[in-house]
Amino acid sequence: MKLSDQTPSQKAAQPVATARSTAASTAAPATRQTTSRRLFLLSTTAAAAAVAVGLVPRLVRPARADDARRASAPEHFEVAYSDAEWRKRLTPGQYEILRQEGTERPYSSPLNDEHRTGTFFCAGCALPVFSSRTKFDSHTGWPSFWTPLDNAVATHTDTSFGMTRTEVHCRRCGGHLGHVFDDGPKPTGLRYCMNGLAMTFRPQPA
Ligand SMILES: [Zn+2]
Repeated sequence: MKLSDQTPSQKAAQPVATARSTAASTAAPATRQTTSRRLFLLSTTAAAAAVAVGLVPRLVRPARADDARRASAPEHFEVAYSDAEWRKRLTPGQYEILRQEGTERPYSSPLNDEHRTGTFFCAGCALPVFSSRTKFDSHTGWPSFWTPLDNAVATHTDTSFGMTRTEVHCRRCGGHLGHVFDDGPKPTGLRYCMNGLAMTFRPQPA
């Protein structure tokens, strides 16, 4: 009697061990194990039970696919060109900043020293993005502003280079302009740190 009581529970435990060793052996150990451990910890009791009966792959894969779709869902932009077309329309420097989220060398853009009254435009689609009224010298070597023009830019969270920053791009063509930080001057306390190469400037006619 005791032997037959124990047998089913031993059998039930088997798939768990198998699943774990499979996961560990099929891939880059650290990340895969961390991921599955986190998923396990976040699971509800029902999902944890599913883990025990070996249903994990079926439950997990659709959720991860959804997440990936959400994360990579492209923003829709009014002005859109193919990558090849952008390369033709922009200089290599502009392309690297606007289309590949590059960063120009500090103090390399003449727009950093542009102090005339006028308007800064997106170099990708010519949308007015900043006014000289809101420009200030941040001593960083990049043209800096405490606010953009209305309805000019959009942002997303940028976690590249091990930092969490707020990326700023043109709301019309999606061209990368720079980042925004919260160490700017009054009245907003914001510092829109822009790449001069991503913009053009037109002085206001006197
Ligand atoms: Zn644009």
